[in-house]
Amino acid sequence: MLANELHQLTIHEAHELLKQRKISSTELTKSVLKRLAEVEGKVHACVTIVEDFALQEAEKVDECIRTGHATTPLTGIPVLIKDVMCTRGIRTTCSSKMLENFIPPYDATVIEKLKARKAVIVGKTNMDEFAMGSSTEHSAFFPTHNPWDLSRVPGGSSGGSAAGVAADETIYALGSDTGGSVRQPAALCSVVGLKPTYGRVSRFGLVAFASSLDQIGPLTKDVTDCALVMNAVAGHDPKDSTSVSYPVPDYTQQLIPDIKGLRIGIPKEYFVEGMQGEVRAALQAAISRLQEMGAEIDWEVSLPHTKYALAIYYILAPSEASANLARYDGVKYGFSERNAASVIEATERTRQFGFGTEVKRRIMLGTYALSAGYYDAYYVKAQKVRTLIKREFDQVFEEYDALVTPTSPIVPFKLGEKLEDPMQMYLSDICTLPMNIAGIPAISIPAGFADNLPIGMQIIGKPFSEQTLLRIAFAYEQATDWHKRKPPLS
Ligand code: GLN
Repeated sequence: MLANELHQLTIHEAHELLKQRKISSTELTKSVLKRLAEVEGKVHACVTIVEDFALQEAEKVDECIRTGHATTPLTGIPVLIKDVMCTRGIRTTCSSKMLENFIPPYDATVIEKLKARKAVIVGKTNMDEFAMGSSTEHSAFFPTHNPWDLSRVPGGSSGGSAAGVAADETIYALGSDTGGSVRQPAALCSVVGLKPTYGRVSRFGLVAFASSLDQIGPLTKDVTDCALVMNAVAGHDPKDSTSVSYPVPDYTQQLIPDIKGLRIGIPKEYFVEGMQGEVRAALQAAISRLQEMGAEIDWEVSLPHTKYALAIYYILAPSEASANLARYDGVKYGFSERNAASVIEATERTRQFGFGTEVKRRIMLGTYALSAGYYDAYYVKAQKVRTLIKREFDQVFEEYDALVTPTSPIVPFKLGEKLEDPMQMYLSDICTLPMNIAGIPAISIPAGFADNLPIGMQIIGKPFSEQTLLRIAFAYEQATDWHKRKPPLS
């Protein structure tokens, strides 16, 4: 492979070449930076690129490798980080005016873990402001474009991370998923995206949106890479009381192209009205493929409470957001509007000018749902239905090893198409929200195209069944070549 094509590598390919000293981390990083310089003007995946920092880190890694230090699979490999995770000394904006100049004094735990493995951070990716959205158009800075069709959205809110991976502007990326924000952009950009079980990955240093739903996850070029990133980021963290001290397996261990006898259910509620014909057809073909490979498919599974998921999510997520975002008062950090007659007015003006429309809409919805007269009717009711949704999944998983659904009912839509209609935008996550509500893991993998626009398949499992999901995903990937296609960018 030519030195200027190294950005196309996966983690495991790059790792092999680094280990054998056929390439250096500096060469790899330079190739990624060159690719960024070439295509970023079209894709706009990044909010910040830290070229000098990346090259310095890469040089340090090369020195370590030269002097015989052990490498891990992530050592010396460039990564992009969604701009919602705190990076010490590197601006962390959440794509919001509120944090436009915020430089965190500490690293998120996932960043510490990547740094301990000598990963090379290349930049921070664009997102919907505070992770609220499904298209990355709610960024306060600029929208990200889908590398498969630059007139379309990459999905969101981790749209910058997904587009960056799809465009080979990085070897892999991290995103966060509160209602689908890793999986839906993964599907729309034809990359692999995993939302782990709630509590599997530390949220310390992840800027909070809805704390009971948020989870960090990898966006990668293939399933093996996804497992490798999980090996690095999963695990208990004393700094996050909701992280779980459940042993971390080697996620690559069950990457075998064999799914014979696995019981896979197809919940009919996910083949929703309004779903595009091409998506339905692609999913049916993918599921038939799994069946040919020996999985036992049951097409008749039902999860009747699914129909409440969207309503539940849009009570719970805004409620938590309204509390979490109360900290942006212009005093502690971030944007501050000082031109005011009183402290109250300064706070009001800071929030008026610092937050965008969608964020304000969520804060108002959440504050309303939590207010004295409505708390029982909305918030408490939603929590009860959340329990029912969780129980329904528990029951189904007594019979099935996994469920398979589309990730998104539609292919990437045009920039601007849903911007004026919040309900239409909210519907983008109809297939992904229930897993956050139930705290269960799910992965999206490439499963086809409609006129060169990506289609994703979602595989869902019970808590801590990431290995099973990766196994099914890996087997399907081995049998297909969707993941090898590259967007027609250059
Ligand atoms: N699109 C959903 C929302 O706007 C989910 C976002 C996310 O997962 N961060 O809330």
